[in-house]
Amino acid sequence: MGCWTVTRGLNTLKYFSPSTVEEAVEVLAAEPGAQVFAGATDVVPQIRSGKPEPESLVDLKKIDRLVSVADAGDKWVIGAAAPASHLTANADLVAEFPGMVEAAGLIGSDQVQSRSSLGGNLCNASPAADSVPGMVVNGARAVIAGSGGTRTVPVEDVPQGPGKTSLAPGEFVVEIEVDHRPANTGDAYLRLIPRTEMDIAVVGVGARVTLDDAGNCTSATIALGAVAPTVVRVPDAENALAGSAIDDTALDAVAAAASAACNPIDDKRGTIAYRQHVAGVLTRRAVAIAAERARNGGAS
Ligand SMILES: Cc1cc2nc3c(=O)[nH]c(=O)nc-3n(C[C@H](O)[C@H](O)[C@H](O)COP(=O)(O)OP(=O)(O)OC[C@H]3O[C@@H](n4cnc5c(N)ncnc54)[C@H](O)[C@@H]3O)c2cc1C
Repeated sequence: MGCWTVTRGLNTLKYFSPSTVEEAVEVLAAEPGAQVFAGATDVVPQIRSGKPEPESLVDLKKIDRLVSVADAGDKWVIGAAAPASHLTANADLVAEFPGMVEAAGLIGSDQVQSRSSLGGNLCNASPAADSVPGMVVNGARAVIAGSGGTRTVPVEDVPQGPGKTSLAPGEFVVEIEVDHRPANTGDAYLRLIPRTEMDIAVVGVGARVTLDDAGNCTSATIALGAVAPTVVRVPDAENALAGSAIDDTALDAVAAAASAACNPIDDKRGTIAYRQHVAGVLTRRAVAIAAERARNGGAS
């Protein structure tokens, strides 16, 4: 394991680069003031904008398991520190989960995506994190390591509110697991930002739809980002779709349920009423795209 000390003004910062999960667990147990990082595309801007520096930083990208992206037979296993660019470049993952990968591919720019990770996006716990709704609708799980061993939780159980997670001190996310999708299933992610690039979502919507052979919906999952402190599921919309054709009547019900499920803030990016309206519009479109992909065998 590499270890360096960096002096910045009066502050001394230790940098650790473990090469295994076990080493990372050990260093985090020995360094209670440590913070892990992957791409550092949130960590560095936060430190530069005045957030107190941690006593030490633990680099997760030197651990092979945390940067691998693999089809493990019954599921995909995506290293928590794997850069988004490795997901968007993986043709099999894109073909199976176009919506989830599109969301990772919307984060920042090409430069940001060559560093930014699903684990970092999840554990930064921004309500507007783009990759989280796409992971949630696909039933993704976070494998978490710590001195007490390893545990696996649904991804939606990790963020607890802006900047807060359910991880205990010394714990970190090792990988994200996603089961292979059932037949006739498609997913989609749409967001609205005030600019065309490099901005935070006013609303983000993940949708996943499974159809039967007649084209009727057998199950649907919808998750909204940026409209509440954490991702919001929309059970009324999911229930409205189950057993139904994906037609205008069903999509109108979906849009109304999504607007009603929001609990957004009023800020410079949008008023509460605007976010509620946009949530309905985007959810309708995301469900329609997911259904079209399901009809095409999941592909975009
Ligand atoms: C120019 C720019 C544009 C951006 N645009 C977007 C955007 O469009 N959409 C969006 O959602 N975000 C955006 N971001 C934010 C950021 O890029 C993403 O949140 C990114 O996914 C973070 O990943 P990372 O690996 O860089 O995280 P890091 O900065 O390394 O870590 C982020 C947080 O997660 C913790 N952490 C990291 N990995 C783990 C782990 N495995 N286990 C436990 N905790 C962990 C860190 O301690 C830290 O608190 C942007 C950032 C920049 C600088």
